[in-house]
Amino acid sequence: MMKLVLFPFQLNRSYIDHLNIDFDEILVIEHLSFYKRYPYHKKRIALHHSAVLHFVDTYQKKYPIKHLLIEDLNDFYNIYNDPRIYMFLPNDQSDIDFIKPLTEVTYVDDPMFIVSREEWKSLLVKKPWKMDTVYRKLRHKHLILMDHDLPIGGKFSFDAENRKPYKKGLHFHEPLTFEIDALTQQSIDWTNALFKDHPGSLDSFIYPVSNTQANQALKHFINYRLSTFGDHQDVMIKNEPYMSHALISSSLNLGLLNPMDVIKEVEQAYHDGLCSIEPAEGFIRQVLGWREYIRGVYLMTPDYHKKNALNHHIPLPSFYWDANTDLSCLSHTISETLENGYNHHIQRLMVLSNYANLIGVKPKEVNNWFNSMYIDSFDWVVTPNVMGMGLYADGGLMSTKPYISGASYIKKMSNFCDGCKYDPTIKTGEKACPFNGLYWNFIDNHKETLKPNPRMSMMVNLLDKMDSETKQNHLHLAQLHIKSIK
Ligand SMILES: Cc1cc2nc3c(=O)[nH]c(=O)nc-3n(C[C@H](O)[C@H](O)[C@H](O)COP(=O)(O)OP(=O)(O)OC[C@H]3O[C@@H](n4cnc5c(N)ncnc54)[C@H](O)[C@@H]3O)c2cc1C
Ligand code: SF4
Repeated sequence: MMKLVLFPFQLNRSYIDHLNIDFDEILVIEHLSFYKRYPYHKKRIALHHSAVLHFVDTYQKKYPIKHLLIEDLNDFYNIYNDPRIYMFLPNDQSDIDFIKPLTEVTYVDDPMFIVSREEWKSLLVKKPWKMDTVYRKLRHKHLILMDHDLPIGGKFSFDAENRKPYKKGLHFHEPLTFEIDALTQQSIDWTNALFKDHPGSLDSFIYPVSNTQANQALKHFINYRLSTFGDHQDVMIKNEPYMSHALISSSLNLGLLNPMDVIKEVEQAYHDGLCSIEPAEGFIRQVLGWREYIRGVYLMTPDYHKKNALNHHIPLPSFYWDANTDLSCLSHTISETLENGYNHHIQRLMVLSNYANLIGVKPKEVNNWFNSMYIDSFDWVVTPNVMGMGLYADGGLMSTKPYISGASYIKKMSNFCDGCKYDPTIKTGEKACPFNGLYWNFIDNHKETLKPNPRMSMMVNLLDKMDSETKQNHLHLAQLHIKSIK
């Protein structure tokens, strides 16, 4: 009896076909503990469960496939500890721990990532690791957007063209959304019954839950939204949660989409004249570059959760769970997190983790929050993004500087400051935006770490040259603000 056991995030027929084995039974497993590792957003739970139900429903006519909601773990470990059982290796440490008792099972590397586990050992050698180096190698190896040995368009990255600031009147094509069907309603009811105290709302539900829907969403993105991806990628606008972002991360991470297929379709769209090279390259860099790199960094970094290079120990403010703050950028962003289980990249990086880093929140608490609150969260993708890129808690293992900013960046890139109680341009008094004092306070606290960093030394020098009254004022406002946080 040859059997295949799939995790609930390996929802693609590539997993079934990859081994060329005629399985007698295929099981997609779930265990309630998978949904209790963090206080997950209700939308995440309902989406993940619905995706499992849809996968089994879609393929049960073609394969001997079943859904197994494991009730007795000991039974499961006894029955399934057999070399004729095949499993694909998961990424998250908690899933690796889950399969530890299954010592006899035949494990196979995950074929849905472009870079294999073995390959990472030679790709991530010289530290600090750089996404760009990996990305170029993958472009060459897989001949993506290449004209023989040269990158199409004359350069590997058009990132510099993708950072236009906020301006009034920007309009974006809406993403494709999906109606709630019977299986999703079943998942919503299941989530509301079992996880009623979890954060987030299930009043609405629009995300793709099946391979078919995920492919439709991707095609819609390519046809209507890809051409504007990039230009205003870093902009944040009130009540525009998605803009030209693809909204495919949950589909990729659950296996509903195959990343290489996504890349090829976007490359083809460029060749068909649907978009110029800038958005095509910018998008492919996210999936081929960032997504793969982040997984490689996670696999190659033991004990990532324990890192705290900046020695930060403040608890996460309670408003991260209810959006109850007078800082408009944070209240808008967190309200969207609660409503949608989604924020785009710059909200995650330059509002949520930026603020947590500036006030000195303990990295593990920030990491737990990010693991909890997003439809696309998995520890392998959250942890390097949060501990590495967002907080610099790994001391610069995978990014060259801490991503921090004062109010001027948020004002330039968003309309959050319009109507905020605080003023991003005022430096003293009650109306002064806390981000400015916090920024200089951060530089002051970490000047010994930042001074040798060529990308940060200028800010340390600016602080050194700042007149003492202005500097003291910034530090005083920062301390007052930190003390006021609940
Ligand atoms: C602090 C922080 C936490 C994050 N947490 C998650 C998470 O839990 N799950 C997750 O999938 N992504 C996470 N990201 C990465 C990124 O923000 C999301 O992938 C993206 O916002 C998803 O929306 P989208 O599909 O509309 O992406 P788009 O902006 O349209 O990008 C397309 C795709 O590129 C990939 N991608 C882009 N940037 C990254 C990145 N830094 N890491 C990995 N993949 C990337 C994603 O698969 C994404 O779907 C995080 C980033 C930061 C800074
Ligand atoms: S003024 Fe400050 S707190 Fe208010 S939205 Fe702007 S950056 Fe955020």
